[in-house]
Amino acid sequence: MKVLKFGGTSVGSAQRMKGVAKLITGERNIVVLSAMSGTTNSLVEISDYLYKKNPDGANEVINKLAQKYYGHIEELYSTDEYKQKAKELIKHHFDYIRTFTKDLFTLFEEKVVLAQGELISTGMMNLYLNECGVNSVLLPALDYMRTDKNAEPDPVYIKEKLVKLLDEHKDADLFITQGYICRNAYGEIDNLQRGGSDYSASLIGAAIGAEEIQIWTDIDGMHNNDPRIVEKTSPVRHLHFEEAAELAYFGAKILHPTCILPAKLNNIPVRLLNTMQPEAPGTMISNMTEKGKIKAVAAKDNITAIKIKSGRMLLATGFLRKVFEIFENYQTPIDMVTTSEVGVSVTIDNRKHLEEIVDDLKKYGTVTVDEDMVIVCVVGDLEWDNVGFEARIVQAMKDVPVRMISYGGSNYNVSLLVKASDKTRALQALSDHLFNN
Ligand code: ASP
Ligand code: MG
Repeated sequence: MKVLKFGGTSVGSAQRMKGVAKLITGERNIVVLSAMSGTTNSLVEISDYLYKKNPDGANEVINKLAQKYYGHIEELYSTDEYKQKAKELIKHHFDYIRTFTKDLFTLFEEKVVLAQGELISTGMMNLYLNECGVNSVLLPALDYMRTDKNAEPDPVYIKEKLVKLLDEHKDADLFITQGYICRNAYGEIDNLQRGGSDYSASLIGAAIGAEEIQIWTDIDGMHNNDPRIVEKTSPVRHLHFEEAAELAYFGAKILHPTCILPAKLNNIPVRLLNTMQPEAPGTMISNMTEKGKIKAVAAKDNITAIKIKSGRMLLATGFLRKVFEIFENYQTPIDMVTTSEVGVSVTIDNRKHLEEIVDDLKKYGTVTVDEDMVIVCVVGDLEWDNVGFEARIVQAMKDVPVRMISYGGSNYNVSLLVKASDKTRALQALSDHLFNN
């Protein structure tokens, strides 16, 4: 069995839904769907109005969104019977959303509202498949997807419930289920955070020991550099899980970073495929490495670098601990670290507590802050005993001022910190040197 996940754009219109239906029929797999594109954002907007006690504002967004959904019915279904069923489905969910405009609105209600997008898209797809004569079965994510007291997915529970559900439908042609939504340890409706459908797919794949997890989007796999700003990028055919994790974290938008771990731990390959070009090979992510090969470059924006220089660091113990503790106190994660005998530089992307952090750091040394920086990360099989890759990377950057260089934290990544204004030429230079000659 495989797990196939389709994101919001892939199910963003009646036409696209029909396209997805063609791709998923014929094999008995589990299909994970996001909400139709824009829906979750609208549900967030509705919640925002309700938090602000503005039911009129909320109703306006609700009506507009409902209208959009009713508009899809004519195009998606061909029989009156199914048009009627779809109308009832949509009405049911929007009536439910409207009930929240009349009462107290808290975090709990918000999560219920946010869950409606995936419930509608999967309901609509399932009806469409049934109308086409496919015996598809809806697997309610709220019945098996669950997080524990630390808000982490509970793989034992997920596996037990999911396997049982699948067993109850031995005659099903295929299964449709919701991405993103779950219940928490207290049984309340919750979610796996924005963009969490990839995570759902990966958790489901791990739970059933899937043969493969497919993430369908509308680009032909992960590219070796950002195609929006760099000329001549090409899809990467194969990535190791660690390489994919670095790329996903450092800005490649195609895959949610949380999605990697369950697949990696259970050794289930993840394939990135393109709904617009289903025959294209896409990108395969697995535990296989390609010896000595540099695969891709990604960039993470809005980075702040902080340098703490102190004579007291020389031969002293505990200096780094004190520095890191300050970041921890302000719940600010550190991305990159470089050290010398007299100082340490770190980068952060959350500037919320920058002022307090700098203030506290001043107790330990001279502090310098560089804002508007970008982490450029080069990913591949960069095992330290492979020779030459550092030289190629540094050579590519020979005309770009580099603020920090970090290597050795993993075998798969070299990170460079540059000014945001140098981002484009840094990425282009790396592409030209590493991939295009
Ligand atoms: N619909 C959710 C979102 O927009 C989850 C997802 O699409 O992955 O964030
Ligand atoms: Mg997504």
